[in-house]
Amino acid sequence: MNNDKPIYVTQPYLPPLEELIPYFEKIWDNKILTNGGPFHQQLEKALCEYLGVEHIALFANGTLALVTALQALRITGEVITTPYSFVATAHSLLWNGIKPVFADIDPNTLNLDPSKIEAAITPQTTAIMPVHVYGHPCDVDAIQKIADNYNLRVIYDAAHAFGVKCHCGSVLNHGDLSVLSFHATKVFNTFEGGAIICPDAKTKQRIDHLKNFGFVDEVTVVAPGINGKMSELNAAIGLLQLQHIDEALKHRQEIDAHYREALANVKGIRCVNDAGEQAANYAYFPIMVEDTYPLNRDELYLKLREHNIFARRYFYPLISEFPMYRGLRSATSDNLPIASKAAQQVICLPIYPNLSHHEQQRIINVIAGEK
Ligand SMILES: *Cc1c(COP(=O)(O)O)cnc(C)c1O
Repeated sequence: MNNDKPIYVTQPYLPPLEELIPYFEKIWDNKILTNGGPFHQQLEKALCEYLGVEHIALFANGTLALVTALQALRITGEVITTPYSFVATAHSLLWNGIKPVFADIDPNTLNLDPSKIEAAITPQTTAIMPVHVYGHPCDVDAIQKIADNYNLRVIYDAAHAFGVKCHCGSVLNHGDLSVLSFHATKVFNTFEGGAIICPDAKTKQRIDHLKNFGFVDEVTVVAPGINGKMSELNAAIGLLQLQHIDEALKHRQEIDAHYREALANVKGIRCVNDAGEQAANYAYFPIMVEDTYPLNRDELYLKLREHNIFARRYFYPLISEFPMYRGLRSATSDNLPIASKAAQQVICLPIYPNLSHHEQQRIINVIAGEK
């Protein structure tokens, strides 16, 4: 029996409760609970500024935002995507009656490999849905070039990429649309929440109609929309979280740096993707357990559990392994050797603003074999 306090892969960041009360008092005063109320509007404006984007449409969660993004661009047929992600990426395609086509990933970035996209294109292909896995930017220029050559749309699942910058500003400005998640487990959370980033006001308007049943005004419905709206409570939490986000990211950065330093000389452990100069968000801390490490990935996972450390095997199993995808021709492990290997070797270590130095040392000691 191990009596050490359990450490989970993440712990949601919560602002001081007393700071939230004034926001709630405002809601109780004006009795506006949802439907694009004042906090909803304020949060959209504040996020555009913070993220460096033109237009944003808030959602009740990231999955509804993905489903609606595909609707907004009228995507049909086949969409090329990555098997190495959270299952919601591909589920959003199935919810739209679109066939996911899985292409393999790059062994270093673990993002969709642009050189594998082209081979997966068929006459039915209408779009590419890449994921900025762990918040590390995709090769956005190479992907855009393919999209331009074949006249395809690009919708980024940017659920991990809040605040991430690339060579030309916010990574969220690439592609036709980008989708964020503000789920409790994400870097920036509104308990549940999400958003679509879009480049122009006309697209935002269409998205705003689609997330509100298709209503344009009291008597006009222009599309079979859904109810995807973020409530005023969630928007208020978002406004407050935004005041603390830089501090939270700084703590994450310190934890990231300490892991990299402490694990650098552990044979068989490879830290994925040193973000280096680029502005990363330190959302996850994935390591690869390679053949030269004394334990395999699952053995290390269980050893950590014995020490009450609950790391997670993101992303295992691959999306293409789940029953609703297994029948697809693109879903075989022969077709996805790099993703299959990554799914066997990866483990995400705990990282969150309140992880103490002592707790982090407990994790490092188990991996470095001192315990
Ligand atoms: C979290 C996540 C989603 C879904 O977001 P929700 O807000 O939980 O619906 C989609 N894609 C990826 C890659 C995610 O990590």
